[in-house]
Amino acid sequence: MAHEAILWERLTPDDLRVRCNLCSHRCVIPPGRQGACCVRENRDGVLYTLVYDRTIAQHVDPIEKKPLFHFQPGSRSFSIATAGCNFRCAFCQNWEISQMPREQDLVTGSPATPRQIAQAAVRAGCASVSYTYTEPTIFAEYALDTAREAVMLGLKNVFVSNGYMTPELLSLMAGLIHGINVDLKAGRGEFYHRISGAALEPVLANLERIQQLGIWLEVTTLVIPGLNDTEDELRWIARYLYDKLGPDAPWHISRFYPQYKLAGVPPTPAATLERAWRIGREMGLRYVYVGNVPGHDTESTRCPQCGTVVIERNGYQTAVRALAGGMCVKCGTIIAGVEMP
Ligand code: SF4
Repeated sequence: MAHEAILWERLTPDDLRVRCNLCSHRCVIPPGRQGACCVRENRDGVLYTLVYDRTIAQHVDPIEKKPLFHFQPGSRSFSIATAGCNFRCAFCQNWEISQMPREQDLVTGSPATPRQIAQAAVRAGCASVSYTYTEPTIFAEYALDTAREAVMLGLKNVFVSNGYMTPELLSLMAGLIHGINVDLKAGRGEFYHRISGAALEPVLANLERIQQLGIWLEVTTLVIPGLNDTEDELRWIARYLYDKLGPDAPWHISRFYPQYKLAGVPPTPAATLERAWRIGREMGLRYVYVGNVPGHDTESTRCPQCGTVVIERNGYQTAVRALAGGMCVKCGTIIAGVEMP
């Protein structure tokens, strides 16, 4: 259902072209055309979203699957997506739905109102609603309306994002979206340009803005053999996170599996992931996790002071072991996060 978009403007009052200010592409869209995400359309000088009220995916997930390890740990999150994305990552895991509008000229989904989603989340025993799988920025109208309903029912809201939204959208998210996992896909703009069709700088700037707005932030880097796995690049990312976000920002180092246009690239060797983990820890990051390797011994959260396992994880099984009131029961160190047990 077409629904008038937020955050757009006419180029001039007598020009029917519009600029979309939802993400950092800031597409200029002539009448009858769509932006780069292919789900926002200029109709006679007014911008509409084509994905409001249309979920392409709806699941109950462990919050750890986002991944968020320091946000209501052990809880379930009602997870939704619409079709479309503002990136075109060659390694996308969800390319069938994220690239559907671009590659198939198709925008589809099942109708669900924001209130219905929030109510379904409560019925499913979830503590939050997650906007995930594709890029929630491109369905922001739907996500924010759902987030308002969810807050009224006592739930929190989570974005799993490429971090390419504009500062204007981030301002609208403050107070409604409580946690974000941002993919920091690489430390080089060339990667973003060539592999994802985007730029690095807006993502870096947003990492800091997200923290400044008081939204809980965790960062994920998918390490891809031959593309972003050099010592220098991993060290650059870890230093950036430490310098700009501080030692308590969790960093998830995720294993790549052959996907989509990178089906010929092998999975990331465990040794590469462990090297990245060591780099993160050496840099001073307190919470570094290897992801997409079920059972890996870095999945659990350890107290950064005494090393006690405070939250034990095995795949998506989570057990609180030595945490009370958000503190390590052995030494009293505060473990950063939101609604920590
Ligand atoms: S959300 Fe981004 S990609 Fe889509 S139309 Fe707006 S500026 Fe362009």
